[in-house]
Amino acid sequence: MKHAKTATQNACKLCNPLGACLAFRGIENCVPFLHGSQGCATYIRRYLISHYKEPIDIASSNFHEESAVFGGSHNLQVGLKNVTAQYKPEVIGIATTCLSETIGDDVPMILREYTKTYRNGSPMPIMIHASTPSYQGSHIDGFHAAVRATVETLAEKGERQNLVNMFPNMVSPADLRYLKEIFTDFRLPCMLLPDYSQTMDGGPWGEYHRIPPGGTPASAIANAGKATASIEFTSTLADSKSAAGYLEGAFGVPRHKLSLPIGIKESDKFFDLLETLTEQPRPEKYEDERRRLVDAYADGHKYVFEKKVILYGEEDLVVAMTAFLREIGMTPLLCASGGKSGQLKQRLIELIPDLEEQGIKVREGVDFMDIEDEAKVLKPDFLIGNSKGYTMSRKNNIPLLRIGFPIHDRFGGQRAHHIGYRGTQELFDRIVNTVIEQRQNASSIGYTYM
Ligand code: SF4
Repeated sequence: MKHAKTATQNACKLCNPLGACLAFRGIENCVPFLHGSQGCATYIRRYLISHYKEPIDIASSNFHEESAVFGGSHNLQVGLKNVTAQYKPEVIGIATTCLSETIGDDVPMILREYTKTYRNGSPMPIMIHASTPSYQGSHIDGFHAAVRATVETLAEKGERQNLVNMFPNMVSPADLRYLKEIFTDFRLPCMLLPDYSQTMDGGPWGEYHRIPPGGTPASAIANAGKATASIEFTSTLADSKSAAGYLEGAFGVPRHKLSLPIGIKESDKFFDLLETLTEQPRPEKYEDERRRLVDAYADGHKYVFEKKVILYGEEDLVVAMTAFLREIGMTPLLCASGGKSGQLKQRLIELIPDLEEQGIKVREGVDFMDIEDEAKVLKPDFLIGNSKGYTMSRKNNIPLLRIGFPIHDRFGGQRAHHIGYRGTQELFDRIVNTVIEQRQNASSIGYTYM
């Protein structure tokens, strides 16, 4: 039965500044700073810590009634002063919350005023501002807004360098490490932004660091305008919101837009592009990874073929996962996202031209109540998405394969691979094992061999 809905119930997306804070955490010696109420920072810290299992400081301008009525300029300036004195950051990444956006604080103007008042000949942190009202987008919009604002603030013109900008989207720290390994193996200098592979998944500390080590240096980001190419993993991001799009327009850096490389076909496109850019073949170890993956597909195909799935998450992840699921013979019944780029269906039709004839449903802007309603009718073999679908999975007795962000009820989400041959291998093994486990649990006698 259809619910008479008056509001979003259990949103299938997260808060816009959350994505911005994660991206800012991928810049070296940077403090994420929320212009708004303390509660927003607390919620975001809670979400990020639960997934990444790392401490994360998020500063806040700490709005009270007065700032909500008369504007938050004073709070922002005091907050910036305090953060500068206590953290001594090289960069402060400022994201605006719903409240400061609603009252219409002119943050660029406040930052100009602040710089004029406090410069005093001494160096100040670089201040990057991303506009991130949550009522206009989700965490992924905030993530991309922060990356674009960073490049707009820091990138400089200059002589072309043997350098590629890599904008990887909101992938895991393990995925970021894999990307760095690939570029190193191709001997291709790379400006990876953001890079939270260490800041959000580092080692233990002998002493407390106010800002954890790691991240992309501001000096490296300054070179982005001199690169020979930019690669970005996205299918649905509008040109006006893309960092690579900005660099192409402002500095003539050619932009290569690829879907997140999940599955053999999409990973091939990424490696083919690296071969073109470097004019050399991929290192043998990636041929080996690919061969092992093809072999695994052959071995595991009988388990996954024609299994039916409901898939949800960020739109780019849903598009990439759909391509992968089709490649391994699985049937997505519903491709759903809380995002609303207006691009999702078109991108999926490009992958699956007879999408509508096959009865594959596509829904943007949904919440988990919508997805659950669909699941009751469609009866999938399992769900694939982040851990926020767990309640629906438990209630309806449908197994959930956890991918992406957030994963709050399992360990090691930050170390899960998703992209390239290695990530696809890991995903494929997990999917096959989910199917096997489901069968084993459902068997009246159980079995010990497959
Ligand atoms: S009020 Fe807005 S910015 Fe703050 S936590 Fe909620 S959605 Fe995020």
